[in-house]
Amino acid sequence: MTKPQSLINSVRKSYTFFKQCHWQKRRHCPRCKYGVLWKLKDNRFKCKRCAYKFSDFTGTYLGKLNIPINEVCHILYLFVLGVPAHRMWQYVEVSHNTIHRVFTVIRQAIYDKAIYELKEANISGEIEMDETMFGGKHAGKRGWGASGKHMIFGLYQRNGKVFTFPISSRNKETLMPIVENHIKPGGLYYTDDWHAYSSLSIRGNHVVIRKEKGRPKGRNHLNGIEGFWSFAKNWLYQYRGVPKHHFHLYLKEIEFRFNHRTENLFLLFANLLTSLVPNYG
Ligand SMILES: [Zn+2]
Repeated sequence: MTKPQSLINSVRKSYTFFKQCHWQKRRHCPRCKYGVLWKLKDNRFKCKRCAYKFSDFTGTYLGKLNIPINEVCHILYLFVLGVPAHRMWQYVEVSHNTIHRVFTVIRQAIYDKAIYELKEANISGEIEMDETMFGGKHAGKRGWGASGKHMIFGLYQRNGKVFTFPISSRNKETLMPIVENHIKPGGLYYTDDWHAYSSLSIRGNHVVIRKEKGRPKGRNHLNGIEGFWSFAKNWLYQYRGVPKHHFHLYLKEIEFRFNHRTENLFLLFANLLTSLVPNYG
């Protein structure tokens, strides 16, 4: 198992590490997947079938970053640990802007993967649903519709994963199409008593959780999705001042961290960075 600490002082080790993440066993043409290549004098390769010329990281997220590769390892390692950019600049050899650029590329790679995982998810079974607000001074369900905030709808598949959706309104016309597009019919749904959820009983079994003084009455609860909301708000709190146009990237990063919380995130993110950017080629 490669330890990130062993990579950050060595360009050669970092390069080898990312190369192994990218090619697994064998280098091949990113355009046509052919595996017979010429090696060119400038260290690039040329496909013997389609004549495409490429380098090891051409077409990948990593290929977008023009800084020493061991610095990418270093920044990625600190990113995995949750160190925000504004606390990192003293410890790495690149500028503050460059750190931000690396962060954005890492987050974009995570975002694209999370969207792909959502498409493949086949959400079913016991599902908690809820909406919340991000970005206000107060946590929780306050200030609906206030400007500069982000309204988010969440699905929590019990014993499984969470999926978030930015929404412009929490009415039935907004929420139900998301349910229809992403959840298999049938199943058991848990929500609060918000009226937008009233038609869920047509699709499956619907348990409405009523609360008294903030606590659910009876044995049913929304602990899964509510747990995720507080997990997400804690992460965002550390980052401070998320730019509005990047909020979707931050939220998917946190969703992805949550869904993969038992895995080695350094290795996972390194693999994402060396995957091909969608629609490349
Ligand atoms: Zn080719």
